[in-house]
Amino acid sequence: MKVWTRSKASFACGRCANILPPGSPRLQFVFRGKNGPFAKDRCEHCADEPVPADLPIRTMNFHEPLVLTAFDIDGVERPISNLKPMTPIQRIELPVDWRKKAAGE
Ligand SMILES: [Zn+2]
Repeated sequence: MKVWTRSKASFACGRCANILPPGSPRLQFVFRGKNGPFAKDRCEHCADEPVPADLPIRTMNFHEPLVLTAFDIDGVERPISNLKPMTPIQRIELPVDWRKKAAGE
């Protein structure tokens, strides 16, 4: 299954290995593996098709509650509703290249 999404977090393109910031268009190829579905990501430059014009822009709202999601057996990402984490999960904002930022560059 092939689907265009906007990334929730930074991701690395599977072809050019560029790290892209949250909100970037991402083409996901979802495959059914032996241990469940898995996805391969492509950036907009490495995808073999243009980004759909109607792809919604993801706005990062840090006040909305964090929802844990997982890919279902049919390859669709759905929220996990019956999971209560023992440690409170909080959203942190990392720069795109946190190693350079930590080194003071
Ligand atoms: Zn790429």
